[in-house]
Amino acid sequence: MKTLLQAIDIHKYFGKQHVLKGINLDVYEGETVVIIGPSGSGKSTLLRCLNLLIKPDRGRIIFDGVDITSGGVDINKVRQEIGFVFQSYNLFAHLTAIENVVLGLVKVKKMSREEARRVAAEALLSVGITEDLWSKYPAQLSGGQQQRVAIARAIAMNPRLLLLDEPTSALDPELTVEVLNVLEKLSEKRMTMIIVTHQLGFAMRAADEVVFMEDGKIVEKGPPEKILLNPEKERTREFVSRLM
Ligand code: ADP
Ligand code: MG
Repeated sequence: MKTLLQAIDIHKYFGKQHVLKGINLDVYEGETVVIIGPSGSGKSTLLRCLNLLIKPDRGRIIFDGVDITSGGVDINKVRQEIGFVFQSYNLFAHLTAIENVVLGLVKVKKMSREEARRVAAEALLSVGITEDLWSKYPAQLSGGQQQRVAIARAIAMNPRLLLLDEPTSALDPELTVEVLNVLEKLSEKRMTMIIVTHQLGFAMRAADEVVFMEDGKIVEKGPPEKILLNPEKERTREFVSRLM
């Protein structure tokens, strides 16, 4: 298996607060990694470091064999290859569903509008957003539909890696299910993903590896059956049992 991303001894400070305290993480191509851990443990900060939305203070990130934390790397190119899906969808409110997907394809990928609409349509259909919804604005869509448009926007760019930060935590249970189903399908298609989520059923079904973070460190990681059902560390057991 090929290593797609390697984070080596990542540290991040916000002022004096030491938020990431030496994170080491390997992600193989085609793998689904789920990160769990208490609020404030540094999960979002880690994801943001991985695609250079914020710069780690120490450590290296090797993506597809290239040290993207060294100088001279084109950050925009890195961000094209590493997609990001936020908890709060972050769709452009003044653009329709399909225009939200088309925009990056035209502006960043330099596709013609015609080609971009074709690629966008395919991405939207793949997440279950049917044609009747394409011309609706975000405010006219349910939260689950908006999040699926956001996922379509990310995958239409054909990223090598997709990062998702609590993609269902703003959603009602039934809308959560429709988004998790989409992610499960992507996982089956071997899209490489790192997902922060506390949906343990999903993690059990879809994750190749579960990572438990606390206080800026990885406490324990391994296959879902081990981390979720039979963890080594008491802290992991406590945290997981509270979510069950
Ligand atoms: P999690 O996603 O696990 O809840 P975060 O990565 O969001 O944790 O936050 C980890 C810690 O870093 C928290 O104490 C948070 O307040 C702090 N933090 C996060 N982002 C910033 C920021 N931009 N500026 C200052 N502190 C931050
Ligand atoms: Mg977070």
